[in-house]
Amino acid sequence: MIRISDLAKSVKPSATIAAGTKARQLKAAGVKVFDFSLGEPDFNTPKHICDAAEKATATGNTHYTPTSGTAEVKAAICAWYKSFHGLDCLPENVIVSNGAKHSIHNALAATVGPGDEVIIPTPYWVSYSDLVSMTGATPVLVNSTPESGFKMTAAQLRAAVTKNTRCLMLNSPCNPTGTVYSRAELEALVDAMSDTDAYILSDEIYEQLTFGTAKPTCVATLRPWLKDRTITISGASKSYAMTGWRMGWAVAPAAVVKAMDTIQSQETSCPSSVSQAALVAALNGPQECVGEMRTEFAKRRELTVGLLQAIPGVKLPVPEGAFYAFFDVSAYFKKTFGDKVVTDSLSFCNVLLEQAHVNLVPGVAFGAEGFVRMSFATNPATIEAGLAKLREWLATGR
Ligand code: PMP
Ligand code: GLU
Repeated sequence: MIRISDLAKSVKPSATIAAGTKARQLKAAGVKVFDFSLGEPDFNTPKHICDAAEKATATGNTHYTPTSGTAEVKAAICAWYKSFHGLDCLPENVIVSNGAKHSIHNALAATVGPGDEVIIPTPYWVSYSDLVSMTGATPVLVNSTPESGFKMTAAQLRAAVTKNTRCLMLNSPCNPTGTVYSRAELEALVDAMSDTDAYILSDEIYEQLTFGTAKPTCVATLRPWLKDRTITISGASKSYAMTGWRMGWAVAPAAVVKAMDTIQSQETSCPSSVSQAALVAALNGPQECVGEMRTEFAKRRELTVGLLQAIPGVKLPVPEGAFYAFFDVSAYFKKTFGDKVVTDSLSFCNVLLEQAHVNLVPGVAFGAEGFVRMSFATNPATIEAGLAKLREWLATGR
Protein backbone atom coordinates (compact mmCIF):
# COMPACT_ATOMS: atom_id res chain seq x y z
CA MET A 1 0.00 0.00 0.00
CA ILE A 2 1.28 3.49 -0.80
CA ARG A 3 0.79 5.93 2.07
CA ILE A 4 -0.55 9.38 1.24
CA SER A 5 1.61 12.23 2.53
CA ASP A 6 0.59 14.64 5.29
CA LEU A 7 0.94 17.47 2.75
CA ALA A 8 -1.57 15.88 0.38
CA LYS A 9 -3.93 15.10 3.25
CA SER A 10 -3.79 18.70 4.47
CA VAL A 11 -4.95 20.18 1.15
CA LYS A 12 -8.68 20.65 0.55
CA PRO A 13 -9.83 19.95 -3.01
CA SER A 14 -10.66 23.14 -4.96
CA ALA A 15 -14.39 23.75 -4.43
CA THR A 16 -14.78 25.41 -7.83
CA ILE A 17 -13.12 22.57 -9.67
CA ALA A 18 -15.14 20.06 -7.60
CA ALA A 19 -18.41 21.82 -8.49
CA GLY A 20 -17.44 21.82 -12.17
CA THR A 21 -16.61 18.11 -12.02
CA LYS A 22 -19.97 17.31 -10.42
CA ALA A 23 -21.80 19.12 -13.22
CA ARG A 24 -19.74 17.32 -15.86
CA GLN A 25 -20.62 13.93 -14.31
CA LEU A 26 -24.34 14.73 -14.19
CA LYS A 27 -24.28 15.95 -17.79
CA ALA A 28 -22.52 12.72 -18.85
CA ALA A 29 -25.34 10.79 -17.14
CA GLY A 30 -27.86 12.65 -19.33
CA VAL A 31 -29.08 15.20 -16.76
CA LYS A 32 -29.71 18.76 -18.00
CA VAL A 33 -27.72 20.90 -15.57
CA PHE A 34 -27.89 24.69 -15.28
CA ASP A 35 -24.21 25.03 -14.55
CA PHE A 36 -23.04 28.29 -13.02
CA SER A 37 -20.09 26.83 -11.14
CA LEU A 38 -16.79 27.32 -12.94
CA GLY A 39 -15.48 30.79 -13.65
CA GLU A 40 -14.68 30.13 -17.25
CA PRO A 41 -15.64 32.20 -20.33
CA ASP A 42 -17.91 30.16 -22.62
CA PHE A 43 -16.36 31.87 -25.67
CA ASN A 44 -13.85 30.03 -27.79
CA THR A 45 -10.35 31.49 -27.98
CA PRO A 46 -10.26 34.19 -30.72
CA LYS A 47 -9.14 32.88 -34.11
CA HIS A 48 -5.96 34.95 -34.53
CA ILE A 49 -4.69 33.47 -31.25
CA CYS A 50 -5.44 29.90 -32.37
CA ASP A 51 -3.79 30.63 -35.72
CA ALA A 52 -0.57 31.66 -33.93
CA ALA A 53 -0.57 28.35 -32.08
CA GLU A 54 -1.08 26.42 -35.32
CA LYS A 55 1.79 28.31 -36.87
CA ALA A 56 3.95 27.45 -33.86
CA THR A 57 3.30 23.74 -34.27
CA ALA A 58 3.80 23.89 -38.05
CA THR A 59 7.16 25.67 -37.75
CA GLY A 60 8.70 23.48 -35.08
CA ASN A 61 8.11 25.82 -32.17
CA THR A 62 7.49 22.70 -30.13
CA HIS A 63 10.56 22.45 -27.92
CA TYR A 64 11.45 23.38 -24.35
CA THR A 65 11.69 27.13 -23.91
CA PRO A 66 13.62 29.06 -21.27
CA THR A 67 12.12 28.19 -17.86
CA SER A 68 10.53 31.59 -17.29
CA GLY A 69 9.24 31.99 -20.86
CA THR A 70 10.50 33.02 -24.28
CA ALA A 71 12.03 36.44 -24.98
CA GLU A 72 9.02 37.17 -27.23
CA VAL A 73 6.43 36.44 -24.57
CA LYS A 74 8.26 38.48 -21.93
CA ALA A 75 8.58 41.41 -24.34
CA ALA A 76 4.86 41.17 -25.10
CA ILE A 77 3.99 41.18 -21.37
CA CYS A 78 6.26 44.19 -20.68
CA ALA A 79 4.74 46.12 -23.61
CA TRP A 80 1.22 45.26 -22.46
CA TYR A 81 1.88 46.54 -18.90
CA LYS A 82 3.36 49.76 -20.27
CA SER A 83 0.39 50.45 -22.51
CA PHE A 84 -2.41 49.21 -20.23
CA HIS A 85 -1.15 50.40 -16.82
CA GLY A 86 1.84 52.65 -17.55
CA LEU A 87 4.01 50.20 -15.59
CA ASP A 88 7.67 49.93 -16.61
CA CYS A 89 9.08 46.46 -16.30
CA LEU A 90 11.95 44.54 -17.86
CA PRO A 91 12.09 40.92 -19.06
CA GLU A 92 14.00 40.05 -15.86
CA ASN A 93 10.86 41.05 -13.94
CA VAL A 94 8.61 38.57 -15.75
CA ILE A 95 7.98 34.84 -15.37
CA VAL A 96 5.32 32.90 -17.28
CA SER A 97 3.79 29.79 -15.73
CA ASN A 98 1.14 27.17 -16.42
CA GLY A 99 -1.78 29.38 -15.44
CA ALA A 100 -2.08 32.15 -12.88
CA LYS A 101 -2.81 29.55 -10.20
CA HIS A 102 0.65 28.13 -10.83
CA SER A 103 2.15 31.63 -10.75
CA ILE A 104 0.55 32.24 -7.33
CA HIS A 105 1.82 28.91 -6.07
CA ASN A 106 5.37 29.64 -7.24
CA ALA A 107 5.28 33.20 -5.87
CA LEU A 108 4.21 31.98 -2.44
CA ALA A 109 6.63 29.04 -2.49
CA ALA A 110 9.45 31.48 -3.29
CA THR A 111 8.63 33.97 -0.56
CA VAL A 112 6.87 32.50 2.49
CA GLY A 113 7.16 29.48 4.76
CA PRO A 114 6.60 28.19 8.30
CA GLY A 115 6.17 30.97 10.86
CA ASP A 116 5.12 33.53 8.24
CA GLU A 117 1.64 35.02 8.11
CA VAL A 118 -0.20 35.91 4.91
CA ILE A 119 -3.16 38.28 5.20
CA ILE A 120 -6.13 37.39 2.98
CA PRO A 121 -9.28 39.51 2.97
CA THR A 122 -12.50 37.45 2.81
CA PRO A 123 -14.40 36.54 0.72
CA TYR A 124 -11.38 35.21 -1.15
CA TRP A 125 -10.84 33.01 -4.18
CA VAL A 126 -11.01 29.37 -3.02
CA SER A 127 -7.39 28.49 -3.73
CA TYR A 128 -5.65 31.27 -1.79
CA SER A 129 -5.74 29.77 1.71
CA ASP A 130 -4.69 26.29 0.57
CA LEU A 131 -1.88 27.64 -1.61
CA VAL A 132 -0.60 29.56 1.44
CA SER A 133 -0.98 26.55 3.76
CA MET A 134 0.93 24.33 1.32
CA THR A 135 4.04 26.47 1.92
CA GLY A 136 3.74 25.98 5.70
CA ALA A 137 2.81 29.67 6.18
CA THR A 138 -0.39 30.67 8.01
CA PRO A 139 -3.32 32.34 6.24
CA VAL A 140 -4.74 35.19 8.34
CA LEU A 141 -8.29 35.92 7.21
CA VAL A 142 -9.73 39.43 7.56
CA ASN A 143 -13.50 39.49 7.20
CA SER A 144 -15.18 42.00 4.97
CA THR A 145 -18.95 42.25 4.67
CA PRO A 146 -21.54 43.38 2.11
CA GLU A 147 -22.05 46.52 4.23
CA SER A 148 -18.52 47.69 3.29
CA GLY A 149 -19.01 46.55 -0.33
CA PHE A 150 -16.86 43.52 0.59
CA LYS A 151 -13.88 45.81 1.00
CA MET A 152 -11.27 45.47 3.74
CA THR A 153 -10.49 48.81 5.38
CA ALA A 154 -7.02 50.10 6.23
CA ALA A 155 -7.96 49.98 9.94
CA GLN A 156 -8.88 46.29 9.66
CA LEU A 157 -5.64 45.63 7.83
CA ARG A 158 -3.53 47.45 10.42
CA ALA A 159 -5.18 45.43 13.18
CA ALA A 160 -4.27 42.17 11.40
CA VAL A 161 -0.57 42.98 10.90
CA THR A 162 1.89 41.30 13.31
CA LYS A 163 5.67 41.02 13.34
CA ASN A 164 5.24 37.78 11.37
CA THR A 165 3.23 39.30 8.51
CA ARG A 166 5.10 38.67 5.28
CA CYS A 167 2.48 39.10 2.59
CA LEU A 168 -0.87 40.73 1.87
CA MET A 169 -2.93 39.14 -0.89
CA LEU A 170 -5.17 41.46 -2.85
CA ASN A 171 -7.59 40.61 -5.65
CA SER A 172 -9.39 43.43 -7.40
CA PRO A 173 -11.61 42.85 -9.39
CA CYS A 174 -12.44 40.12 -6.91
CA ASN A 175 -13.47 36.54 -7.36
CA PRO A 176 -16.07 35.77 -5.89
CA THR A 177 -17.65 39.15 -5.06
CA GLY A 178 -16.98 41.20 -8.19
CA THR A 179 -15.76 44.01 -5.91
CA VAL A 180 -13.44 46.56 -7.53
CA TYR A 181 -11.45 48.72 -5.12
CA SER A 182 -10.93 52.35 -6.15
CA ARG A 183 -7.40 53.69 -6.54
CA ALA A 184 -7.79 55.72 -3.33
CA GLU A 185 -8.99 52.68 -1.37
CA LEU A 186 -5.99 50.68 -2.56
CA GLU A 187 -3.66 53.55 -1.70
CA ALA A 188 -4.98 53.50 1.86
CA LEU A 189 -4.35 49.74 2.07
CA VAL A 190 -0.81 49.83 0.69
CA ASP A 191 0.08 52.81 2.87
CA ALA A 192 -0.95 50.74 5.88
CA MET A 193 1.72 48.22 4.82
CA SER A 194 4.51 50.71 4.07
CA ASP A 195 6.33 50.40 7.41
CA THR A 196 6.00 46.62 7.68
CA ASP A 197 8.26 43.84 6.41
CA ALA A 198 5.55 42.51 4.13
CA TYR A 199 5.05 42.59 0.40
CA ILE A 200 1.84 42.65 -1.63
CA LEU A 201 0.76 39.82 -3.88
CA SER A 202 -1.79 41.43 -6.17
CA ASP A 203 -3.88 39.07 -8.29
CA GLU A 204 -5.20 41.22 -11.13
CA ILE A 205 -6.40 38.49 -13.45
CA TYR A 206 -9.83 40.16 -13.99
CA GLU A 207 -8.28 43.59 -14.79
CA GLN A 208 -9.80 43.72 -18.30
CA LEU A 209 -13.27 42.83 -16.99
CA THR A 210 -14.75 45.83 -15.21
CA PHE A 211 -18.20 47.31 -15.76
CA GLY A 212 -19.87 50.72 -15.59
CA THR A 213 -17.60 53.31 -14.01
CA ALA A 214 -15.34 50.80 -12.21
CA LYS A 215 -11.69 50.96 -13.24
CA PRO A 216 -8.92 48.43 -12.67
CA THR A 217 -5.81 49.51 -10.79
CA CYS A 218 -2.36 47.98 -11.03
CA VAL A 219 -1.25 48.01 -7.40
CA ALA A 220 2.46 48.18 -8.31
CA THR A 221 1.86 51.63 -9.86
CA LEU A 222 0.35 53.19 -6.72
CA ARG A 223 3.56 54.24 -4.95
CA PRO A 224 7.20 54.27 -6.13
CA TRP A 225 8.31 51.87 -3.35
CA LEU A 226 5.78 49.25 -4.43
CA LYS A 227 7.80 48.18 -7.45
CA ASP A 228 10.22 46.46 -5.08
CA ARG A 229 7.51 45.09 -2.84
CA THR A 230 4.80 43.82 -5.17
CA ILE A 231 4.28 40.57 -7.02
CA THR A 232 1.65 41.19 -9.67
CA ILE A 233 -0.21 38.15 -10.95
CA SER A 234 -2.30 37.95 -14.10
CA GLY A 235 -3.06 35.64 -16.98
CA ALA A 236 -4.85 35.02 -20.25
CA SER A 237 -7.60 32.69 -19.00
CA LYS A 238 -10.29 35.31 -18.41
CA SER A 239 -9.56 38.25 -20.75
CA TYR A 240 -8.72 36.17 -23.83
CA ALA A 241 -10.89 33.10 -23.14
CA MET A 242 -7.79 30.93 -22.85
CA THR A 243 -8.45 28.78 -19.75
CA GLY A 244 -7.24 25.55 -21.39
CA TRP A 245 -3.99 27.05 -22.67
CA ARG A 246 -2.77 27.54 -19.08
CA MET A 247 -1.00 30.86 -19.45
CA GLY A 248 -0.42 32.94 -16.31
CA TRP A 249 2.42 35.18 -15.22
CA ALA A 250 4.02 37.13 -12.44
CA VAL A 251 5.71 40.54 -12.62
CA ALA A 252 8.05 40.97 -9.67
CA PRO A 253 11.46 42.21 -8.53
CA ALA A 254 14.22 40.34 -10.42
CA ALA A 255 15.42 38.44 -7.33
CA VAL A 256 11.91 37.06 -6.77
CA VAL A 257 11.59 36.08 -10.44
CA LYS A 258 14.93 34.28 -10.14
CA ALA A 259 13.73 32.31 -7.11
CA MET A 260 10.46 31.43 -8.88
CA ASP A 261 12.47 30.42 -11.95
CA THR A 262 14.53 28.00 -9.87
CA ILE A 263 11.40 26.42 -8.41
CA GLN A 264 9.74 26.21 -11.82
CA SER A 265 12.87 24.64 -13.36
CA GLN A 266 12.44 21.71 -10.99
CA GLU A 267 8.65 21.56 -11.26
CA THR A 268 7.71 21.90 -14.93
CA SER A 269 10.88 22.96 -16.83
CA CYS A 270 8.94 25.63 -18.70
CA PRO A 271 5.43 26.58 -19.77
CA SER A 272 4.09 25.14 -23.07
CA SER A 273 5.90 26.57 -26.11
CA VAL A 274 2.72 26.50 -28.21
CA SER A 275 0.67 28.30 -25.55
CA GLN A 276 3.37 30.96 -25.23
CA ALA A 277 3.20 31.62 -28.98
CA ALA A 278 -0.58 31.98 -28.59
CA LEU A 279 -0.12 34.36 -25.67
CA VAL A 280 2.19 36.58 -27.75
CA ALA A 281 -0.57 36.84 -30.36
CA ALA A 282 -3.16 37.57 -27.65
CA LEU A 283 -1.17 40.41 -26.10
CA ASN A 284 0.35 41.92 -29.27
CA GLY A 285 -2.61 41.32 -31.57
CA PRO A 286 -5.89 43.19 -32.05
CA GLN A 287 -7.66 43.83 -28.74
CA GLU A 288 -11.21 44.23 -30.11
CA CYS A 289 -12.00 40.66 -29.04
CA VAL A 290 -11.49 41.62 -25.39
CA GLY A 291 -13.91 44.54 -25.72
CA GLU A 292 -16.48 42.38 -27.48
CA MET A 293 -16.38 39.74 -24.75
CA ARG A 294 -16.53 42.42 -22.05
CA THR A 295 -19.62 43.95 -23.69
CA GLU A 296 -21.26 40.54 -23.71
CA PHE A 297 -20.35 39.94 -20.05
CA ALA A 298 -21.77 43.36 -19.20
CA LYS A 299 -25.12 42.37 -20.75
CA ARG A 300 -25.10 39.10 -18.83
CA ARG A 301 -24.33 40.99 -15.63
CA GLU A 302 -27.40 43.21 -16.15
CA LEU A 303 -29.55 40.16 -16.85
CA THR A 304 -28.22 38.24 -13.83
CA VAL A 305 -28.50 41.17 -11.41
CA GLY A 306 -32.06 41.98 -12.53
CA LEU A 307 -33.25 38.38 -12.20
CA LEU A 308 -31.55 37.74 -8.85
CA GLN A 309 -32.72 41.01 -7.29
CA ALA A 310 -36.30 40.06 -8.16
CA ILE A 311 -36.12 36.85 -6.10
CA PRO A 312 -37.61 37.32 -2.62
CA GLY A 313 -35.05 36.90 0.18
CA VAL A 314 -32.00 37.08 -2.08
CA LYS A 315 -29.55 39.90 -1.29
CA LEU A 316 -27.05 40.75 -4.00
CA PRO A 317 -24.31 43.39 -3.86
CA VAL A 318 -23.95 44.47 -7.51
CA PRO A 319 -20.67 43.11 -8.97
CA GLU A 320 -18.50 45.76 -10.66
CA GLY A 321 -15.96 43.41 -12.19
CA ALA A 322 -15.16 39.76 -13.03
CA PHE A 323 -18.14 37.56 -13.94
CA TYR A 324 -19.63 36.41 -10.67
CA ALA A 325 -22.72 37.22 -8.63
CA PHE A 326 -22.16 36.54 -4.93
CA PHE A 327 -25.45 36.62 -3.12
CA ASP A 328 -26.88 36.06 0.34
CA VAL A 329 -29.30 33.14 0.57
CA SER A 330 -29.29 32.79 4.36
CA ALA A 331 -33.00 33.73 4.44
CA TYR A 332 -33.59 30.19 3.14
CA PHE A 333 -31.53 28.39 5.77
CA LYS A 334 -33.52 26.14 8.14
CA LYS A 335 -36.20 25.69 5.44
CA THR A 336 -37.22 22.26 4.13
CA PHE A 337 -37.07 21.50 0.40
CA GLY A 338 -38.78 18.21 -0.48
CA ASP A 339 -37.49 15.97 2.31
CA LYS A 340 -34.23 17.90 2.86
CA VAL A 341 -33.46 20.67 5.32
CA VAL A 342 -31.04 23.33 4.16
CA THR A 343 -28.77 24.49 6.97
CA ASP A 344 -25.84 26.28 5.34
CA SER A 345 -24.36 27.27 1.96
CA LEU A 346 -23.01 23.78 1.32
CA SER A 347 -26.30 21.97 1.96
CA PHE A 348 -28.09 24.73 0.00
CA CYS A 349 -25.94 24.03 -3.09
CA ASN A 350 -26.15 20.25 -2.71
CA VAL A 351 -29.94 20.16 -2.36
CA LEU A 352 -30.41 22.75 -5.13
CA LEU A 353 -28.30 20.69 -7.53
CA GLU A 354 -30.02 17.44 -6.57
CA GLN A 355 -33.58 18.77 -6.83
CA ALA A 356 -33.44 21.56 -9.42
CA HIS A 357 -30.18 20.79 -11.25
CA VAL A 358 -28.89 24.32 -10.74
CA ASN A 359 -25.18 24.31 -9.89
CA LEU A 360 -23.73 27.09 -7.68
CA VAL A 361 -20.63 27.18 -5.45
CA PRO A 362 -21.14 27.46 -1.65
CA GLY A 363 -19.93 30.69 -0.04
CA VAL A 364 -18.20 28.75 2.73
CA ALA A 365 -15.49 27.77 0.18
CA PHE A 366 -14.72 31.49 -0.22
CA GLY A 367 -14.72 32.13 3.53
CA ALA A 368 -18.26 33.61 3.51
CA GLU A 369 -21.00 31.40 4.96
CA GLY A 370 -24.54 32.49 4.05
CA PHE A 371 -23.61 33.26 0.44
CA VAL A 372 -23.42 31.36 -2.85
CA ARG A 373 -21.50 32.19 -6.03
CA MET A 374 -22.91 32.13 -9.52
CA SER A 375 -20.68 32.52 -12.58
CA PHE A 376 -22.50 34.43 -15.32
CA ALA A 377 -19.84 33.59 -17.91
CA THR A 378 -22.42 31.47 -19.67
CA ASN A 379 -25.05 32.09 -22.34
CA PRO A 380 -28.07 34.32 -21.57
CA ALA A 381 -30.60 31.54 -22.32
CA THR A 382 -29.02 29.36 -19.61
CA ILE A 383 -28.96 32.31 -17.21
CA GLU A 384 -32.67 32.99 -17.77
CA ALA A 385 -33.77 29.37 -17.56
CA GLY A 386 -31.46 28.54 -14.63
CA LEU A 387 -32.53 31.53 -12.56
CA ALA A 388 -36.21 30.82 -13.28
CA LYS A 389 -35.56 27.30 -11.97
CA LEU A 390 -33.76 28.67 -8.91
CA ARG A 391 -36.65 31.01 -8.16
CA GLU A 392 -39.21 28.22 -8.56
CA TRP A 393 -37.21 25.91 -6.31
CA LEU A 394 -36.74 28.56 -3.61
CA ALA A 395 -40.52 29.04 -3.52
CA THR A 396 -40.95 25.37 -2.54
CA GLY A 397 -39.04 25.94 0.73
CA ARG A 398 -41.21 25.58 3.84
N1 PMP B 1 -6.90 34.12 -9.67
C1 PMP B 1 -8.24 34.23 -9.62
C2 PMP B 1 -8.84 35.29 -8.79
C3 PMP B 1 -9.05 33.34 -10.34
O1 PMP B 1 -10.37 33.46 -10.30
C4 PMP B 1 -8.44 32.33 -11.09
C5 PMP B 1 -9.33 31.33 -11.76
N2 PMP B 1 -9.02 30.91 -12.93
C6 PMP B 1 -7.04 32.27 -11.12
C7 PMP B 1 -6.31 33.17 -10.39
C8 PMP B 1 -6.28 31.23 -11.88
O2 PMP B 1 -6.46 31.31 -13.25
P1 PMP B 1 -5.63 30.40 -14.28
O3 PMP B 1 -4.86 29.42 -13.45
O4 PMP B 1 -6.65 29.77 -15.15
O5 PMP B 1 -4.74 31.33 -15.01
N1 GLU C 1 -11.01 30.51 -11.18
C1 GLU C 1 -12.20 29.89 -11.68
C2 GLU C 1 -13.22 29.78 -10.57
O1 GLU C 1 -13.04 30.33 -9.52
C3 GLU C 1 -11.91 28.58 -12.37
C4 GLU C 1 -11.68 27.39 -11.51
C5 GLU C 1 -10.47 27.49 -10.66
O2 GLU C 1 -9.38 27.66 -11.19
O3 GLU C 1 -10.68 27.49 -9.45
O4 GLU C 1 -14.22 29.17 -10.75
